[in-house]
Amino acid sequence: MKFETKFQKIIPRTHDSASFRFPRPAELDYKAGQFLYVTLKKGDKELSKHFSFSSSPTEADHIEFTKKFTDHEYSLALKAAKAGDWARIDAPYGQFTFEGEYPKIALLCGGIGITPFMSICKNATDKDLDCRITLFYGCRTEGDLAFKEELEDLAAKNKNLKLVFILTQPSSNWKGATGIITPELVKKELPDFNETMFYTCGPPPMVEAMEKLVANLGLQKENLKREYFTGY
Ligand SMILES: Cc1cc2nc3c(=O)[nH]c(=O)nc-3n(C[C@H](O)[C@H](O)[C@H](O)COP(=O)(O)OP(=O)(O)OC[C@H]3O[C@@H](n4cnc5c(N)ncnc54)[C@H](O)[C@@H]3O)c2cc1C
Repeated sequence: MKFETKFQKIIPRTHDSASFRFPRPAELDYKAGQFLYVTLKKGDKELSKHFSFSSSPTEADHIEFTKKFTDHEYSLALKAAKAGDWARIDAPYGQFTFEGEYPKIALLCGGIGITPFMSICKNATDKDLDCRITLFYGCRTEGDLAFKEELEDLAAKNKNLKLVFILTQPSSNWKGATGIITPELVKKELPDFNETMFYTCGPPPMVEAMEKLVANLGLQKENLKREYFTGY
């Protein structure tokens, strides 16, 4: 559905990303993992981009997306947005969804690729879905991990949710995994990886790296669902 709306709330997530919330129309139904188009105004000009929902379908009062900022036109216009500003939304779209279809899933992402997985993890926790989820989430530093506390709160409620944060440039206090997501890390954290459906999303180089990882684990390409964060 297409509708005009106003920004409700803006929540900084990291030094270079923020979440943008809008009231959720009662008729808007969507699945965890889907995406929306968001149109903004810059003067008389309209600018549009698509983003995964970072909110969960279980959240009745708002919908949310989360953008990594760049110095490009849309990003600059979005960074300047305030609560009450106009926007048009067109949603939902996409097949990159999880509603409990598999008993075990692994979610592989880096950086802003966390957004649909935030939605999937929250939805599964709120609905008490009977499925094991292992999230592998790579970033440069701890400060680059968006939704870290929110994910830890979900994992505290959901014994079926396991979080594996992995940093390439950890501080000396970091006690988690370091480096990048490798087949060895997946085997260590998820010994039954061969009974698991994998999901990955993000910029094409990330998705391609995860395709290689799944192949190196000896799995078929049908074992990996992908969403490319391409902009055009
Ligand atoms: C299904 C889906 C979900 C997505 N979810 C998210 C999300 O949750 N969060 C998020 O931040 N992003 C998400 N994206 C990506 C998003 O749509 C934007 O592309 C991205 O945020 C960059 O937008 P931008 O305006 O900042 O930069 P852009 O202006 O789009 O530039 C991004 C890069 O592309 C290059 N580029 C731009 N136009 C062209 C062109 N015509 N030819 C070649 N190169 C070009 C630029 O140089 C730059 O390096 C998603 C994309 C898809 C398809």
